[in-house]
Amino acid sequence: MRTLTAEEAEARERALVEARQRDIEDKKRAEVEAVERFEREAREAAELVEKEAEEARRTAKRAADAEAKEAAAELKASKAATETEADAGRSKSRRPAGGADKPATPPKPRNDADRRRGKLTVSNALNDDGGRARSLAAFRRRQERQKKQARGGSVTKEKVAREVTIPEVITIQELANRMSERAVDVIKFLMKEGEMHTINDIVDTDTAQLIAEDFGHTVKRVSESDVEEGLMQDDDPADSMKPRAPIVTVMGHVDHGKTSLLDALRNASVVSGEAGGITQHIGAYQVETANGLATFIDTPGHAAFTAMRARGAKATDIVVLVVAADDGVMPQTIEAISHAREAGVPLIVAINKMDKPDADPNRVRTDLLNHEVIVESMSGDVLEVEISALKGTNLDKLLEAILLQAELLNLQANPDRAADGIVVEAQLDKGRGPVATVLVRRGTLRVGDIVVAGVAWGKVRALINDKGANIPEAGPSVPVEVLGMNSAPEAGDQIVVVEHEGRAREITAYRERKLRDTRGAPSARSSLEQMMSQLKESGKQEFSILIKADVQGSAEAIVQALDKLGTDEVAARVVHYAVGGISESDVQLAQASNAIVIGFNVRANKQARDAAEVSGIEIRYYNIIYDLVDDVKAAMSGLLSPDLRETFLGNAEILEVFNITKVGKVAGCRVVEGNVQRGAKVRLVRDSVVVHEGTLSTLKRFKDEVKEVQVGQECGMAFENYQDMRAGDVIECFTVESIQRSL
Ligand code: GDP
Repeated sequence: MRTLTAEEAEARERALVEARQRDIEDKKRAEVEAVERFEREAREAAELVEKEAEEARRTAKRAADAEAKEAAAELKASKAATETEADAGRSKSRRPAGGADKPATPPKPRNDADRRRGKLTVSNALNDDGGRARSLAAFRRRQERQKKQARGGSVTKEKVAREVTIPEVITIQELANRMSERAVDVIKFLMKEGEMHTINDIVDTDTAQLIAEDFGHTVKRVSESDVEEGLMQDDDPADSMKPRAPIVTVMGHVDHGKTSLLDALRNASVVSGEAGGITQHIGAYQVETANGLATFIDTPGHAAFTAMRARGAKATDIVVLVVAADDGVMPQTIEAISHAREAGVPLIVAINKMDKPDADPNRVRTDLLNHEVIVESMSGDVLEVEISALKGTNLDKLLEAILLQAELLNLQANPDRAADGIVVEAQLDKGRGPVATVLVRRGTLRVGDIVVAGVAWGKVRALINDKGANIPEAGPSVPVEVLGMNSAPEAGDQIVVVEHEGRAREITAYRERKLRDTRGAPSARSSLEQMMSQLKESGKQEFSILIKADVQGSAEAIVQALDKLGTDEVAARVVHYAVGGISESDVQLAQASNAIVIGFNVRANKQARDAAEVSGIEIRYYNIIYDLVDDVKAAMSGLLSPDLRETFLGNAEILEVFNITKVGKVAGCRVVEGNVQRGAKVRLVRDSVVVHEGTLSTLKRFKDEVKEVQVGQECGMAFENYQDMRAGDVIECFTVESIQRSL
């Protein structure tokens, strides 16, 4: 092999270097080119993105225009648009990385479709979530959250378990409120339990408790009457107690001198006491004696006493039983004794009319023994005084006895507390509005106090005592007229001073509700339904009465007495009772309710009398409750359906049935037992089953109509309005007697 020449070697060397240089240059150029291409592609991509953004912007603008009716929307739109721009900017900086080797995607048609789907609103015009504007509430929520975080509280809302107070009945709305839950959730819960309810529906305590517990709350069941809780506290410490005057009720048989005695005592007091001496009938009064005060309840009879007691008001400390020495123990004397005994009130016997020549006090004493009232002179412990209400003899002795008895009872009350007491009488006075006579039980009642009595309440405007004088305050056992109530309370209602108006309203509202519930006066529709069904079911007879009386106490006593008369079949229904004379509107009401009008110690005015005459309404006047009750009883007895008594006459067996033209079917029978009579009632008995009951239309023997057919004889019988008799049937014959009953 030949070796290379020097020239050749040099040339080769050069060529090699050149080649290397070219190589390097090539590489460099390729690099530059690559960079250039990269840059170009990036630019193109950016341009595309820019275009896309432009497109989005335009769409947004269009959408905004579409919604431009509302200025606010427009504002949002432009804000959203800028956000989109920023978004586009973000993607611009992101895209080149992947966009270098991937051609940029054209604007997504899916987005377009989304934008046009459904109602075009700003938030769905702007794709995805980027453009959704925050609501003000959301903003607030965020702020709240941030605040909480700053305070270190937890962000997630924790469920608060509450103690939910549940009354006897509660609406779903109220229950939800008390649980701080949404009413919808409660309704949903009930739906799951299979009960459909609306928000205003009422649920009972058990259901409410179930719901509340299911929602994770604890339950405190209260009865609504808790409103009255604390109204009557018996928390007077012993050292606050001061002696008080006894409260006395006078009872006895009619005409034994109750009123006379009360008048005599009152006048005695006036003579000895206050200047002026004008006494007022306010339902109670106080008598001053050397030994202290005594308060007398001056309401008619002991029926009022009973009515009061029926409402749980123990108004009386001592009962003075008036017995006329010339008459002795009478029915109402006995009643009074039992009333006093039931109430646990001690008796003092006042043997009245001692001035009469035929007075026989010893007879009274022995009579009383029969009723377990043993007076002192018969070595018992019941004080007795012989008096004459007419002559005024021994009244001081009677008062002495009363105060002695009071001392034994050790009557005390705390005068330094909020007052409560008992309403003895109440009426609507024309000039003064509702007036209630109150006996303060304890505490001191003052002008300006807020009081509640039954469903009435008010701020005491004035206090008037039994002498007709305005007084600023009334302590225990003091009778006063209270002015300023919003309506007249009822005799026997407890009157209580409450701390503020709100409480008074709360209590009276609750009582009114209760009263409505118990009186059962729901909506007109249901009451009509009730009436209809009642009529259908029982056919109960009602005797409607409208009562007007001189005082509330009497009216109530009458209502109570009449109530007791009712039986399952017949009852007295008092459509209305009130204090005052009988007016035209009373007569109208009576006419509307088909009632009779009763005036107790009151009379009808001219217009009322005329109206009653025209409409044929009966007005009756009474001044004795017992007479009234007796009369009503008699009238009600007339309404009783008579007793029907059935008397069996005889049986006849049908031998054959003939069909006679014009007459119809006639049964040829033989009397097998007793006899059969024409005009009697008959039953058709087939296989021991009564198939028809009616009357006989014909009873014939041979061709003649007869009155009666005896046993063993044959006869022809036909029924009224009944044809389907068959041979072998038995005809039972009987009569029905109606016997009038009485209560
Ligand atoms: P009340 O129905 O119980 O209230 O009895 P009253 O007070 O109306 O009296 C009935 C009647 O008895 C009246 O005519 C009185 O004048 C008369 N009366 C009452 N007290 C006495 C008395 O002490 N002596 C006499 N002689 N008559 C009296």
